[in-house]
Amino acid sequence: MTRKQYCDIFISGGGLAGLMTALSLADKFSKIICCDPNLEFESDSTDLPQDRRVTALFNSSLDYLANLIPLETLLTDCGKRLSEIEIVEAGEKGQLIQTTSFKSHSIDREEFGWVIPNENLRKALIDKVLQNRRITTLSKKGVKKVITRTKEAHILLSNGDRVVSRLLIGADGKNSRVRECLGINTNRISLPQSGITFNVRHQLPLSHKSIEIYKSGGPFTIIPLPCEDNYSSNIIWMDSNKNIDIYSHMDSGNFAMEITKRSLGMVGNIEVTSPLLKWSGTYQMANKLSHERAILIAEAAHNLPPIGAQGLNLTINDIKLLNEQLAKSEDPGDFKILKDYYSTRYLPTLLKFVGTNFLNLMSFSNILPLKIIRKEGVNIFANNRQLQSMLIKFGLGEGLFEVKPFSRTE
Ligand SMILES: Cc1cc2nc3c(=O)[nH]c(=O)nc-3n(C[C@H](O)[C@H](O)[C@H](O)COP(=O)(O)OP(=O)(O)OC[C@H]3O[C@@H](n4cnc5c(N)ncnc54)[C@H](O)[C@@H]3O)c2cc1C
Repeated sequence: MTRKQYCDIFISGGGLAGLMTALSLADKFSKIICCDPNLEFESDSTDLPQDRRVTALFNSSLDYLANLIPLETLLTDCGKRLSEIEIVEAGEKGQLIQTTSFKSHSIDREEFGWVIPNENLRKALIDKVLQNRRITTLSKKGVKKVITRTKEAHILLSNGDRVVSRLLIGADGKNSRVRECLGINTNRISLPQSGITFNVRHQLPLSHKSIEIYKSGGPFTIIPLPCEDNYSSNIIWMDSNKNIDIYSHMDSGNFAMEITKRSLGMVGNIEVTSPLLKWSGTYQMANKLSHERAILIAEAAHNLPPIGAQGLNLTINDIKLLNEQLAKSEDPGDFKILKDYYSTRYLPTLLKFVGTNFLNLMSFSNILPLKIIRKEGVNIFANNRQLQSMLIKFGLGEGLFEVKPFSRTE
């Protein structure tokens, strides 16, 4: 028999974004429902998809997360401090042309942020969600259909159940069903480029530094893995569809040799220790972030190339602002509040979307002027302390559009 439930806030998607949103809004609203068709919301669920990715979170994001989960424990148990980013320019024959280091000390910080494995972060969030009596989780149920009215959103779930909510939040990823049901289009940037990510062990240590190596085809990023010694890292490799296809079909010996070559031997010989996870080079941003009784956040709103660790950090800024906006009214779906969210959030998000896609295009392209701009651009920032500090702060989300730190009222 199908059921009908009522709630203040309905969150479509139990990924990192959906879980964080549920926790941060549970202070103010007493009935929140979060659903996911692919997830079992259980602390030790073996059903969780194996996500071996790591996420670099900036200090401003971590300050916010500290209000939601026991962050100190998470960082001590499985975090890695990130205090240096090295940008390397490689020639077409695989020779090192230029290397530039950005250090957190240059902006008087001990670190830029911390690297955390996605699985550990997800588990910490799920534990807290399950302990919170204001949040109801619906495992293995997805949003099928949405109709919005002036006073509420009507949601039909994949098992036939219905929910009526004062606000619907679409946090259901890049192929968002909520976005589709609301008829919101996206701006798409599609390159004949793909990416693969995987974990490796290497010969030379890499402590608190990540390395981004630029050559045509896309960046090749080495991120030190937490919970391990200094000889394990996560690699994000972006290249043309043709090359990624060739690499992902190589036998392990040849693949390891190809990675060692692409990394310019900067961490010595490399051995792959996890399966490859592949994605396509299509990135998109929603044309609208709000709708009658509904809002889009995270990858449902903006799906960026994984350059400069922007995706989830940008999402945390979505959630911070949403929190601030919803604190202004008793009605979470208040038209003006949602409209204000959209108008405040759209421009900074668009800038990040255009910026990361431009960087990606510059690194993908083999066009000489673009390559010169990239190399000289890095040089200009490296040689001017003030410009460098501005660039770093902008990358950390503290630049032109700083969002005030979140403060929680007990
Ligand atoms: C290789 C790589 C490295 C990255 N590194 C970083 C980094 O260092 N720093 C950073 O800030 N960001 C990084 N990102 C980006 C970051 O990982 C993403 O922004 C983040 O994981 C996306 O979270 P999400 O919850 O929006 O989406 P998802 O994790 O995709 O979650 C969406 C959820 O919605 C569910 N769903 C789907 N359909 C429905 C439906 N019909 N109804 C209900 N639910 C549904 C899905 O099952 C899924 O669980 C990286 C991304 C990649 C690809």
